[in-house]
Amino acid sequence: MPLPQKSYRSHDYKFLVQRWRKICNESGLRMKKILGLDDYPCFEVFSPSFDSKNVIYLSAGIHGDESGAAEGLLAWAESNLDQLRSLPLLIYPCLNPWGLVNNSRFDASGTDLNRIWSTPKNILIKYIFNRTKALNFQVVINLHEDFDGQGVYLYEPSLGGRPSKKAESIIEAASAFIPADPRRMIDGRKATNGIIRPRPSNPPKEGIPEALHFYLEHKCPTFTFETPSEFDLELRIQAQVAMIEQIFQ
Ligand SMILES: [Zn+2]
Repeated sequence: MPLPQKSYRSHDYKFLVQRWRKICNESGLRMKKILGLDDYPCFEVFSPSFDSKNVIYLSAGIHGDESGAAEGLLAWAESNLDQLRSLPLLIYPCLNPWGLVNNSRFDASGTDLNRIWSTPKNILIKYIFNRTKALNFQVVINLHEDFDGQGVYLYEPSLGGRPSKKAESIIEAASAFIPADPRRMIDGRKATNGIIRPRPSNPPKEGIPEALHFYLEHKCPTFTFETPSEFDLELRIQAQVAMIEQIFQ
């Protein structure tokens, strides 16, 4: 049986950009080339109702071997064309194009771009630092996948006190497609029904990830969504879409 077209082209960066361009044309979002990275152009997408005091930040593809995340973000935009214009969006559709094309977690220099957010030397991360410095965020959402994943899960940094029910509702929305990861320990952290609440004082020892940077520097809610990259791509995409949509409920 032939694979669906999307499946075998999920590492085709040009095709991803082409589909984002179409979304922008149809929805009124704007797309801007921000720089070239490892011989690939990098883009940001933002809405005409962008409000620097209340930004919704979405990013995917910082780990290039997690193509369901980049596809999920695109599929969410494709299926919500009518509302995109009216949301104060700042979107990074793919933060590691070289990695996406080469199915690599790392960039061309072997760097994990999601561990260098303390003092960024990388030109793209530096650009995002400057771009976002003066912004206030309603929420920051980073889309990822996990090749050890046994279901969907998410990270929501612990603020102390009683957490909101948002994380539970996000996992529930995704579970229509992929159930919550049943593991009690994920990547060395305690997980409950697919929810990890890492203490910001205990970052990954390799370095500061994107979500933690925004949490610490911008004091905003952050969610990191994870789908299991060994599962069916279409289900992973649908689970990512369901999680993003749940943010807006
Ligand atoms: Zn990742």
